[in-house]
This record gives sequence, structure tokens and C-alpha cells, in this order.
Amino acid sequence: MKPKVAFFEFTSCEGCQLTVVDTLQHHPELLDVIEIVQFREAMTERGEDYQIAFIEGSCTRPSDEEKIRKIRTQATYVVTLGACAHLGGINAIRNWQPLESVREYVYGDKKDWFETYPARPISAVIKVDAEIPGCPIDRKEFAMAVTHLLQGRMPAIPEYPLCIECKLKENVCMFLRGKTCLGPITRAGCDAICPTYGDGCEGCRGLIPSPNLNSIRSALRERGMSDAEIDAKMTMFLSYQKMKMEGVTTT
Ligand code: SF4
Ligand code: SF4
Ligand code: SF4
Repeated sequence: MKPKVAFFEFTSCEGCQLTVVDTLQHHPELLDVIEIVQFREAMTERGEDYQIAFIEGSCTRPSDEEKIRKIRTQATYVVTLGACAHLGGINAIRNWQPLESVREYVYGDKKDWFETYPARPISAVIKVDAEIPGCPIDRKEFAMAVTHLLQGRMPAIPEYPLCIECKLKENVCMFLRGKTCLGPITRAGCDAICPTYGDGCEGCRGLIPSPNLNSIRSALRERGMSDAEIDAKMTMFLSYQKMKMEGVTTT
């Protein structure tokens, strides 16, 4: 019997699910070994019996928590898809601002019509078995994760920094090209795609364990960035992780 798989989205742009559709077009053989029972972006059927749940998006509302817990109760394996689900992602940028002013900015005088609270990754609500990082996810990494799950292995992600991958590709470092990059503190696994194509890494795969934030801050300062510019760079994807490390809470 094929394992049943379901896809769910919370606050996100759905770009990671689109990448899944794209991956399935490149790897149609995956559809021979799994049965997708729920995938709103790609099909109308909606089965509630599944063993593997992929969750995209951040938890941004108290009512999301109940839905996320229900998925956890049903699924044997829960895997997050992309930076929004893995890190809180760009949704967590708003956590730096008082919640009331964010609500007012977005909804104006209708702010009380909509529930919301500080954005958080799925792992802040339930136990997550594996994470597929990135914004969006990497096609190869998704296909590999499915293969590993079918083999009864947990998909693993690199614990080392992007610079290692980047050096293996023999890229000239962005810092030597007059640009900046978060590669030294960012988890590898994307094949250093941004530096390879001439852009500095923005950290979408999340921080490595024990990142040296002071050291990257000094390096960015030496390249002429102001503290405000450095903070903006380091909080595009990493707000939730950084706030947690620094003990900052949302008001
Ligand atoms: S991680 Fe990026 S691509 Fe994926 S849902 Fe979030 S914003 Fe979209
Ligand atoms: S370009 Fe970025 S990822 Fe590559 S070596 Fe330099 S700092 Fe590291
Ligand atoms: S290089 Fe950095 S920003 Fe670009 S995809 Fe990889 S982790 Fe994300």
C-alpha cells in the first residue's frame, strides 16, 4: 500500500507548494510510490487519512494552533516546507513591532475583525520530525526527503555553513567582490545558489547551530554597513531565531 501524503498551508505565499508541484513534474515517478490525499493547490479531493503531512507557512493566529495539532495527531511524520514554516520566515519580521500597531497598519479601522498574534514556526506549536528549509524549498531536497521517508529514514539537513558549499563550487567570495553575504552563519544545502549567481546569501535556510553573530556583524560593519542595515539584513528570514537568541519578546 502506498503511504498517504497530505499538504497543508498556513501563512505563506504558497511558493513552496508550487515548488512541490514543479518537483512532481520533474519526478513523476514519485507519484507511483505515494498517494496524495490532500493538496489544495493542486487537487480538489480532500482526504483526512494520511501518514505523512507536509506543512507550509507560519502559525500566525491562535486558531492555527488547533489545526496544526490536529495534523500532528493524524500524521506519523510531520515535515515542514520552507522558511515560513521552518523559521517563521519573513512573516516574523512583524514580531519586532508592537502587535497593535501592526494590526492597525494592515487592517486600519477593521483591525478587530481579524485575529492574529506574533508569527512563529510550526515547531513552536508541535513536534516536527523533519524540516525542508529555504525560500522556496529546493526541488532536489524535497525529492530526497520523500525518498528518505519512504525508506523509513528521517531527512537530514546540513549543520554546516553555506561557505563550505560555496567554496566547493569555487565561487569568488561576495566579500571579495565588494558585496556582503550571510553565508558564514547560514545553513548549507541550497548549493550556494545566490553567491553562485552573484548575490549575497540572505539566510533563508536559517542559522547554523552556534552561529557567531558578533563576528558576522563586524564583517558587515567593515564593509560599510550601518547597524540599521545589518539588522535589516539579518532579520529578513532570521527574526524569530534572532529574537529568541536575544531574549526579545513581542509586545
Ligand atoms: S518559504 Fe518563501 S516561498 Fe515558501 S511559502 Fe514562505 S515565502 Fe513562500
Ligand atoms: S560568498 Fe558568502 S557563502 Fe560564499 S564564501 Fe563568501 S561569505 Fe561564504
Ligand atoms: S544562498 Fe542563502 S538566501 Fe540564497 S537560497 Fe541559499 S540559503 Fe537562501
